Amino acid sequence: MSDVNAEISAVDHITNDQALLQIKDLHVWYELKRFGFGHAGYVRAVDNVRFVLEQGEAIACVGESGCGKSSLMKTILGLNIPTKGDVIFDNTSLSQTKGEDLRRYRSKIGYIQQDPFGALPPFMNVQSILEEPMIINGIKDKQERRRRIEKILEEVKLTPIEQVLPKFPHMLSGGQQQRVVIARAMIMEPKLLVADEPVSMLDASVRVEILRLLRKLQEEHHLAVLYITHDLSTVRYFSEYIFVMYAGQIVEFARMEDLLDNPKHPYTLALLEASSDPNADNALVQREIPKGEPPSLVNPPKGCRFHPRCPYMMEGICDVLEPPNIEVTPKHLVACWLYDEEKGHAI
Ligand code: SF4
Repeated sequence: MSDVNAEISAVDHITNDQALLQIKDLHVWYELKRFGFGHAGYVRAVDNVRFVLEQGEAIACVGESGCGKSSLMKTILGLNIPTKGDVIFDNTSLSQTKGEDLRRYRSKIGYIQQDPFGALPPFMNVQSILEEPMIINGIKDKQERRRRIEKILEEVKLTPIEQVLPKFPHMLSGGQQQRVVIARAMIMEPKLLVADEPVSMLDASVRVEILRLLRKLQEEHHLAVLYITHDLSTVRYFSEYIFVMYAGQIVEFARMEDLLDNPKHPYTLALLEASSDPNADNALVQREIPKGEPPSLVNPPKGCRFHPRCPYMMEGICDVLEPPNIEVTPKHLVACWLYDEEKGHAI
């Protein structure tokens, strides 16, 4: 994905300096050590990823387990240091930041975890859970803490407030727990929300409500949102843009409707085939799912990383050369040789 950032910036008429979040040539590699023998290679969890996100914009990151989306997310949250490249958030370079500045960087990003019960400390009540980030971040005024708690509980619709505040996580339903997690993520009035599979552990009946709540908060607070999921059926509710990751790299980037209605990359097609279909008439339809597993990120395949599983693989091209990033239609980028004018034959 050599020129993703440059092309996306050109498409959207934004410069890197204007975007709230800039992911620049980001590499996140984990060193492997063999006991007694030292260095034994790297796990290339994120490999040259580039994109930008503006204030007030929502973007979805989609991919299966092990594609690198969690490492990307942790790095944006300031929990990983980039191996190479950088994350620029609100004019702060993550690779140059540490100590008190790193705490300030993290305080401007709200994090919504996948498992609300696991994310909430069982020995703290809702009041303590919501006060803790403010105490850590130096908000000493009790009235100000109370004002923020009341405001956000109203917004996430956890009322009556006096009844909610003394409750412990086990006294709340799954949907209420996730509302507390969202309230905690919002309590420091962040500029960016990172939502990691925020509805995957919830009952189907509350998923849409939680997604609508997130969308409402995003619009009312003009928040940037990175929505991470493996489930393409939920992204339509949420984002203006979407990108698909495979084996540590972005393989397709487009506006939401464009990617869902007109997917180009064979891996995106496979993901869409595998996603649930609400039409009962299609319940028994056999689906074309690519064989095999995602590759090892220690020794990823040469050329296109999807080539061992791709039904359109072109020998001598896909297994040798890394595909460039090709703009197939305005605002729609795909890393696949099929769309190369000389080598490919678009599907
Ligand atoms: Fe398939 Fe080749 Fe495109 Fe990779 S570059 S997705 S192997 S056609």
